[in-house]
Amino acid sequence: MSSTNAKFNEFANAFPSFTNLPFSHNETTRIITDEIPDLLYKELGLEFGNYKIYGSVGTGNWAEIAWLGILDRRITESTTKGYYVVFLYDRELENLFLCLSLGWTQFEEEFGAKEGRQKIRQYRNHYSKLLGAHEGFTSSDIELHAKNQLGKGYEAGTLLSKKYSVQNIDSVDIIDDTLKILDIYDTLKDIVGDNILNLEVTDTHLETVVDDFKKEVAANTFKRIDDDVIASMLGKASGKPPEIRQKMINQIVRNRKFANYIKQKNNFVCELCKRQPFIQKNGLPYAEADHIIPIGGSARGLDDPSNLRCLCAQCHAIITHGSDEEVRKLLS
Ligand SMILES: [Zn+2]
Repeated sequence: MSSTNAKFNEFANAFPSFTNLPFSHNETTRIITDEIPDLLYKELGLEFGNYKIYGSVGTGNWAEIAWLGILDRRITESTTKGYYVVFLYDRELENLFLCLSLGWTQFEEEFGAKEGRQKIRQYRNHYSKLLGAHEGFTSSDIELHAKNQLGKGYEAGTLLSKKYSVQNIDSVDIIDDTLKILDIYDTLKDIVGDNILNLEVTDTHLETVVDDFKKEVAANTFKRIDDDVIASMLGKASGKPPEIRQKMINQIVRNRKFANYIKQKNNFVCELCKRQPFIQKNGLPYAEADHIIPIGGSARGLDDPSNLRCLCAQCHAIITHGSDEEVRKLLS
């Protein structure tokens, strides 16, 4: 059993026995607040500066639902806001759900508890339609058997999830699943931006409009786009708020651990032109990972470090979009 899986199991077996005692942190609660987060940073290859990984058993009182979140700091630093990847135990600690969820508290504060519950469901349904199906994950409701407001909010706000039985947790690859859901998280960020409440989702009509628009974009992507197609798409586009950014979703799941590995191995220096990386706002060097044999299209190269190289943005753009002559010049 991987150590992360074992820790999720250990926590679920030991935690209920503490909840009859007054609230305090102890060795068991530290499994979810400290030990699993430390393991996940390493196993997932995530930087502390980019991702906040933290777990909770409640503050001041025992939480009904214990959780552990993985938050993209560019979107949110708190599970009350934005959207994030989260592990949620059900009330009985029999099942663990790996979820992509919307923060409940922002809806409760904006709309009140009753309307907030309807709103979060509308947003959730809307985004899960935009994301489409992802193998291994379901968009149907999760059952935490929650009795309090917060736990019910988690249930209503989860747009994609995968369920694990705590007792059989040794048979699943939690790290691989988490990398997959982090990729979907990235895709959602491309669609939504950093503020979930930017978008006023009012009724199912809007969802249909957006869905039809998306289908039309897809249908026309590989055709020559002439003026009347553009005019028709603009007509459809005016029926939705401008904050929605449409995007074709890349269904090929890339393993960001490999990409990070190849960048780190090259100290973020471009393998072709030897250019040094620039430093990003978040303090980290910037580089891009390029599949030497493309993983998409007819080539179907491997997503494997042996098929990856570390490039600067300019060289990556030339390799991807340059003429044969430009590519030859660069490679020689
Ligand atoms: Zn370069």
